[in-house]
Amino acid sequence: MSAPSNLIVNAERLWGSIMETAKFGATPKGGVRRLTLTDEDRQVRDWFRAACEAAGCTVGVDEMGNMFAVRPGRDNTRPPVAMGSHLDTQPTGGKFDGIVGVLSGLEVLRTLNDLHIETYGPVALVNWTNEEGSRFGPPMLCSGVFAGVFDRAYADGRVDREGKRFGDELERIGYRGEEKCGARKLGAHFEVHIEQGPILEAEGKTIGIVTGVQGMRWYEVTLTGSEGHAGSTPMPMRRDALLAAARMIEAVNAAGLRHAPTVSTVGLIECKPNSTNVIPGHVFFTVDIRNPSDDVLETVEVEIERDLKAIAAASRVEIEFRRTWNSPAVHYDPLCIDSVRRAAAELGHPAREIVSGPGHDSVYVSRVAPTSMVFIPCEKGLSHNELEKTEPEQVTAGANVLLRAVLDTDQRLAEQSRAR
Ligand SMILES: [Zn+2]
Repeated sequence: MSAPSNLIVNAERLWGSIMETAKFGATPKGGVRRLTLTDEDRQVRDWFRAACEAAGCTVGVDEMGNMFAVRPGRDNTRPPVAMGSHLDTQPTGGKFDGIVGVLSGLEVLRTLNDLHIETYGPVALVNWTNEEGSRFGPPMLCSGVFAGVFDRAYADGRVDREGKRFGDELERIGYRGEEKCGARKLGAHFEVHIEQGPILEAEGKTIGIVTGVQGMRWYEVTLTGSEGHAGSTPMPMRRDALLAAARMIEAVNAAGLRHAPTVSTVGLIECKPNSTNVIPGHVFFTVDIRNPSDDVLETVEVEIERDLKAIAAASRVEIEFRRTWNSPAVHYDPLCIDSVRRAAAELGHPAREIVSGPGHDSVYVSRVAPTSMVFIPCEKGLSHNELEKTEPEQVTAGANVLLRAVLDTDQRLAEQSRAR
């Protein structure tokens, strides 16, 4: 079935709902401060529930406060095709991060109503709790519980800087639901999100077809040399840990360049004793490497470890090299990716495949449901910033791609179940 040509969302209504919810936690600089489980979060949740109910959906809330609005289809025994993202923000967040995904989903539901479209199975819209993780770490907490990555007790026990518990705050705002988190099955999951990077804008593309999330590894490096007087220790006799670190930072950078598109970063360094006239005897620094392929990351890791150890030997310092975190690459569902690709093509939007740098709720949801994402550009790649900006036409493009991808997937799942 090729989609009817009137399959287009109401752009003004979508932009209006983004501006309307931006009131909840609005900052003087035009951003949004809506930390998870605060009164502002409760206000936007109340708004969201009312808007979904007005669109004919039933709204369920699970024990982690994840909200599921469901628009019934012809056969409601089938798991819904879901759209989801988050309504919480960073302390100095923008109007679009997460929000554009939830409200594009709301606009899709409203458009299905306007066009009197009956889907085969139900369509759901999810507001995932605590994606940002800035009040209660870690990020993507409740999509994580949904996917079985964390359990309820762990989530409830997260504590903010004032000593308030996640579980208590969830109950305080009245969003502890009865439903067991993760009990609900999803037939698929799509998430529209701003890119939070500069690639789409630089290439003049409107849509990013997100194929996955890159793998990420973190390391800690400790160097021990020998402290000495900067005036009296001859150069050949020194064991300068900071000089060794400087050479190592070059090597980390070179490894990223050698294995493009790997990105490799030394972002934190401590030097002791950090004194003008003392040869540094002790340095600690971190390394962050990322690539869409775990195999490439493995190679980069081996080379960095080899190079750093060689530099340490040549510099006569001791090295301790330790991996502290390994987050494997995520590969989204090929058929969901295909739905996004076809939708962008039908609408004539310039598009490219892209691998996400940041994590998103879809990372965890993809463990329990076929998933893909739709990226739209944001100005200068700026995000987690009150000045975060994306154009109305770009928001509309993302929502129209979402609408088609959802209908395409609904039809595909119906055909699959008939063939069975
Ligand atoms: Zn986000």
